[in-house]
Amino acid sequence: MLVSAKEMLNKAREGKYAVGQFNINNLEWTKAILLTAQELQSPVILGVSEGAGKYMCGYKTVVGMVKGMIEELGITVPVALHLDHGTFEGAKACINAGFSSIMFDGSHYPIEENIEKTTALVHACDILGLSLEAEVGAIGGEEDGVIGSGECADPEECKMIADLGVTMLAAGIGNIHGKYPENWPGLSFETLAAVKEKVGDMPLVLHGGTGIPEDMIKKAISLGVAKINVNTECQLSFQAATRKYIEEGKDQQGKGFDPRKLLAPGFEAIKATVKEKMELFGSVGKA
Ligand SMILES: [Zn+2]
Repeated sequence: MLVSAKEMLNKAREGKYAVGQFNINNLEWTKAILLTAQELQSPVILGVSEGAGKYMCGYKTVVGMVKGMIEELGITVPVALHLDHGTFEGAKACINAGFSSIMFDGSHYPIEENIEKTTALVHACDILGLSLEAEVGAIGGEEDGVIGSGECADPEECKMIADLGVTMLAAGIGNIHGKYPENWPGLSFETLAAVKEKVGDMPLVLHGGTGIPEDMIKKAISLGVAKINVNTECQLSFQAATRKYIEEGKDQQGKGFDPRKLLAPGFEAIKATVKEKMELFGSVGKA
């Protein structure tokens, strides 16, 4: 069964750990993440971007696959299926398709319009018992094809959005999607502390979890971050393991061409990455 992310994130905030959001792209990705969460008895959030949703043949296909897998694999830990960086239209489509959690990214709108659209979704999600993530201050890196350097959110604007009744808030604190450049100045804990001061108990979300040093992750959790998004890191570990398999010529040995064998090293690599992150975030045994 899919659950809203509300309870798992409130528990995480109280217990000073974070729940990982791992983005899915296909069956192997989903299976690797769900099995790892179950093995480690960790709550988990499966993230689906609009692009990945299209790739997987639409949100209804995604909901069917995830629900079927939870049942067939006997997954009993809390699982939220979450739209990542949704548009207003995408959010409505995922609500209709049966997602249990939605992110509406209105960070590129003027604050008034972000408020108006977020408010409409707060009402819809409340009625259906879904969790809702809002974003203030664009997160850097490649987001919707636009490369930014990682802005810091205005704490006052964070409060305005938090007060609308969203479940969790993503605030830009200098974090970036994708790989971090070598001259990256690090997370702005000053901004994080100022946002936390304004929004109180609301669980905060850290996007761009790939490549943030461990001590910064731990400090961010201690300052109220309860959800951390990981995407690029699973892609890189899948890529490295698949490359190794091919370079070692294993695809040309015996039945090594069988897609179930060809994709297996990447699958195991995703499991290892997810395990490493769940241990770092402190969510192991918290299901
Ligand atoms: Zn993000």
